Amino acid sequence: MSDTPRGVTILGATGSIGASTLDLIGRHTDRFKLRAVTAHRNAEQLAEIARRFQVELAVISDENQLPILREALAGSGISIAAGCDGLNEAAALDSDIVVAGIVGVAGLSSVLTAVRRGAAVAFANKECLVSAGDLMMREVAAHGATLLPTDSEHNAIFQVFEERNRSAIARLILTASGGPFRDWSMEKMAQATPAQAVAHPNWDMGAKISVDSATMMNKGLEVIEARYLFDMPQDRIDVLIHPQSVVHSMVEYRDGSTLAQFGPPDMRVPIASALAWPERIEGPAEKLDLVAIGELSFSEPDVTRFPSLRLAREALNAGAWAPPILNAANEVAVAAFLDGKIGFLDIAAMVEGVLSKTDAPVPQSLDDVFALDALGRRQAEAFLSPSTRAIG
Ligand code: NAD
Ligand code: MG
Repeated sequence: MSDTPRGVTILGATGSIGASTLDLIGRHTDRFKLRAVTAHRNAEQLAEIARRFQVELAVISDENQLPILREALAGSGISIAAGCDGLNEAAALDSDIVVAGIVGVAGLSSVLTAVRRGAAVAFANKECLVSAGDLMMREVAAHGATLLPTDSEHNAIFQVFEERNRSAIARLILTASGGPFRDWSMEKMAQATPAQAVAHPNWDMGAKISVDSATMMNKGLEVIEARYLFDMPQDRIDVLIHPQSVVHSMVEYRDGSTLAQFGPPDMRVPIASALAWPERIEGPAEKLDLVAIGELSFSEPDVTRFPSLRLAREALNAGAWAPPILNAANEVAVAAFLDGKIGFLDIAAMVEGVLSKTDAPVPQSLDDVFALDALGRRQAEAFLSPSTRAIG
């Protein structure tokens, strides 16, 4: 690594991915300099981060929180901005690496801004790629940007994926913990509360991805993410349940070798790998103790109890219009579940209902993707209104 620290921008600095990234940057101030941070609503936490790391720019996307941010950063010399334009301003700043840690398709516009200036993007914000798929990968290629897979499974694959031997790859194998309801019956899941759904056994994550892990939509989104990140047809992307979350994913080669990446279930491992790529840095995560773990187990996922995985695969098969609809409906359904408006099993039922009612042309532009996202949200909201609610 060169002597000058690598400039970093974190989109979504107040979240779980943001916290892990800040922890790593704080331990390696000689290698990384945080330059810009964004958050949605928590202006006080954002200001605290901005002051602690002496950044140049702090952005709050909810414009109503701007006065709080302004007051909290008064006299600091740190520039501030708000709204979607503010997010784009943060992504446009010429940092060497942009950490995409916003949750949901809300991050798409700023990720694309970073991509279009040819940045290296440590990519966690999977909903962007689920929604924009090929269009986003085309932008990455056209602008010479580098997507560094940071979702733990994709980071694992990235680490063992031999691009020069691409044609010798038989399949990708994504591992899944199975989430907190891995062994629950349908009857029990029907009664599951938001608190139970966000209590993941292995990973400490934001609320939305925790619910996605409980429904296994997370793994469905990750199949779609892998399809685009690694340009691999979905029939060569398999999923295995692996409750210990030690093997983070695998690449099987035609010669019979399967390469896997192992590590503790701590997002600082894949984030460290992305931040330092192509080099490696000292990581703070507890070292893997395979003797203490003793046994690693693998089994097939149960798509009857976890229909979201099937729905994601069906959406990928249906054509490029369907994943953005799937994602939008899921975002609305998860928010409704967390708000106590629908039951746990209603999440997948809503997504299935929206997908089965929708047919749309393949998006030709990013504006088309945003229109599909809006359509999916409208359809999902309609399921929530009492007159049309026929699920659960
Ligand atoms: P989180 O909810 O903890 O944090 C989300 C961040 O995005 C926060 O900083 C929040 O202020 C910001 N944000 C939320 N809504 C926004 C909006 N509408 N506009 C702009 N900013 C907004 O989420 P997280 O768990 O850190 O996940 C972030 C992304 O990374 C998700 O796409 C998730 O799937 C992915 N990911 C997370 C983990 C993990 O361990 N947390 C692992 C793999 C992938
Ligand atoms: Mg993951």
